[in-house]
Amino acid sequence: MTALNAFTHLECSMTGARVDAGRAHNLSPKGWPLLARYDLEALKRTADRDAIAARNRLTHPGFWKWRELLPVADDDHVTSLGEVDTPLIETPHSAHQLGLAGQLLVKDEGRLPTGSFKARGLALAVSMARRFGVTSMAMPTNGNAGAALAAYGARAGMQTWSFCPADTPEVNVHEIAAQGGHVFRVNGLIHQCGALVGALKEEMGWFDVSTLKEPYRIEGKKTMGIELACQLGWTLPDAIFYPTGGGTGLIGMWKAFDEMEALGWIGSERPKMFAVQAEGCAPIVRAFEAGEEHAPEWLDAATLAAGIRVPKAIGDFLILRAVRASGGAALAVSEDDIERVRALCGIVDGLLLCPEGAAAMAAIAEARRRGLVEADARCVVFNCGSGLKYPLPERVRDLDRTKPVTRAMLEG
Ligand SMILES: *Cc1c(COP(=O)(O)O)cnc(C)c1O
Repeated sequence: MTALNAFTHLECSMTGARVDAGRAHNLSPKGWPLLARYDLEALKRTADRDAIAARNRLTHPGFWKWRELLPVADDDHVTSLGEVDTPLIETPHSAHQLGLAGQLLVKDEGRLPTGSFKARGLALAVSMARRFGVTSMAMPTNGNAGAALAAYGARAGMQTWSFCPADTPEVNVHEIAAQGGHVFRVNGLIHQCGALVGALKEEMGWFDVSTLKEPYRIEGKKTMGIELACQLGWTLPDAIFYPTGGGTGLIGMWKAFDEMEALGWIGSERPKMFAVQAEGCAPIVRAFEAGEEHAPEWLDAATLAAGIRVPKAIGDFLILRAVRASGGAALAVSEDDIERVRALCGIVDGLLLCPEGAAAMAAIAEARRRGLVEADARCVVFNCGSGLKYPLPERVRDLDRTKPVTRAMLEG
């Protein structure tokens, strides 16, 4: 898997202070997320985007093909479970219903190992943790991150510990355990689970891999932006609708766009970034509307879309800056909208979204109503996990085969 490794150092996302990357890190000395930096000048001379994109899928599966823009230097640390490039799927009938005449593309991240895009981030976090000799990792999780942590951790021979809010989807909790993770249901929300990890990590010897408290998950998530540009012939769409919890993916893609521009892979155009949340947990939307840089904790957070039920995001200012710089917006959608769009896309376009993906798609209608995207815009929605991981509405009827079954009964 040899590739020029251009990773140079970490940088505090708030102060810009440089931090040596030679050991495992959580937050910066001032308590903010750390971002990985690369020698883009050196890479620009050698990194040919098309040659990299054409790499052998067996030796460089999925996002691992972008090794030049990833922090893992040593092949022996690469932890892989058969990653794939996730497809961009057109959903023309849903687009029409949502008031969009332009192309609507769903990037279906449910095709990744463990059925969600958390695989991108945790593959990188686990691979880097290996480099630093970490043997035990812990995190609070609404389910998908814990599943990816457990799977990649098992692959790397590490112990993993996941703490889930009690109403995390059943399949997620069991999936974590089935992939070798220690998992606990906690009677609280994700930030309260995070507080447990913080309080116990020293005694337990854990490395904390909470969202944005660890610098490399975002490097995995940024590959969504590179892959998207590559799939669109090194262009970007007019708008991206992203279901936003901790915001890693949105921040990561925004970072990837800048890195690709510095390499001459894309131009200076950017999509409008829409951070989509549920009305029952919309701290970023509230801060966006108030013109604030930070988003205070949302109380009594509630939504079926568990992955975006994040009452307080440590990277709030990075999400808000990207959304504002892009000319996009933070939008909230109702639970009814989420259910309606999940049903719509499944029925008219044959694509079962997860509730978070349905929330992102539902926001297109709101963006159109407010005139934030043109009718003929090309929009990309991120469906971040497999729709099969969530409880589905009961729409099945029973049939008694011992009595006459008539056409009227079937069609009635
Ligand atoms: C984690 C998650 C999100 C939110 O992702 P962030 O990048 O942390 O904002 C959205 N949808 C699903 C299905 C998730 O698992």
